[in-house]
Amino acid sequence: MATYYDNNTVIYLNGSYVKTADAKIDLYSQTLHYGYGVFEGIRSYRTASGDTRIFKPKEHFLRLEKSAAAYNLPYNWTVEELTIATYKVLEENNLQDAYIRPLVYAPANMSFNLNTESFITIQAWEMQPFLGDKLLRVMSSSFQRPNPRGFKIEAKACGHYVNSIMASQEAKAMGYDEALLTDMNGYIAEGPGANIFFEKDGKLYTPPSGNILPGITRATVKEIAAELDIEVIEKLFTADELKAADSAFFCGTAAEVIGWESLDGSRFSGDWNGSLSRKIQQAYKERVTEKIAAEASI
Ligand code: PMP
Repeated sequence: MATYYDNNTVIYLNGSYVKTADAKIDLYSQTLHYGYGVFEGIRSYRTASGDTRIFKPKEHFLRLEKSAAAYNLPYNWTVEELTIATYKVLEENNLQDAYIRPLVYAPANMSFNLNTESFITIQAWEMQPFLGDKLLRVMSSSFQRPNPRGFKIEAKACGHYVNSIMASQEAKAMGYDEALLTDMNGYIAEGPGANIFFEKDGKLYTPPSGNILPGITRATVKEIAAELDIEVIEKLFTADELKAADSAFFCGTAAEVIGWESLDGSRFSGDWNGSLSRKIQQAYKERVTEKIAAEASI
């Protein structure tokens, strides 16, 4: 298991900065029992100029608020206060390349009734800067993503991740690196914690929003593609269509942009290093570490 904290680690908890070791949450929380809570996954980076920079904090904290609203969780924090709190958590823990986990959780409540308040914590731990460019061996999951008529699938909610855990564990038990899930109609949806793009004949394709978490990294990839003059087409597609792609990648805040070697053992025909996907991966790295901006200011 990874180490997330030690005796000196500090977290943000409902307006205070406290040691993880001293922090308490209510064991009767509706979040713990029913998975009824919302969270975010954010990254900070040591930039090319040596600063610590949170990537797209506004987008993440606005999504946290939208996720809370989608699930009727009371929410009264601002983007500004949470961004300031997050920088303080990073500073208190001497973190630059970090993964940041805000979680909005419910009070003690064993019923299914609405709450009058929510609580919040922000935790952070070290992330290694870019773990190389190993290509993933992906498996078509036997699990489908949650049906949007059963869940607010566009929200990032705790309970959704039971599905992610099951799919990822299944793929790893079968000797693969990661799972790929379909929507309830059998079209490709996303990975357990990342969106998917594929490249075919000089264009990029990705599933439309509706049955996926429309990721912030997915939006960044679209921005990068526009700058590089690469067309992005949003459409539904099947695993067979995906297997005929030139290249494919997952993208997400934690995964960043990570290429695929194969799907169900079927290798992609294109050379990864010469692919548009690889170009996007490179541009993403430069964007999060502000390499381009740093070079421009030299
Ligand atoms: N889909 C799922 C199911 C996820 O958990 C994530 C990670 N938050 C993503 C997609 C990618 O979203 P983002 O780029 O905002 O991290």
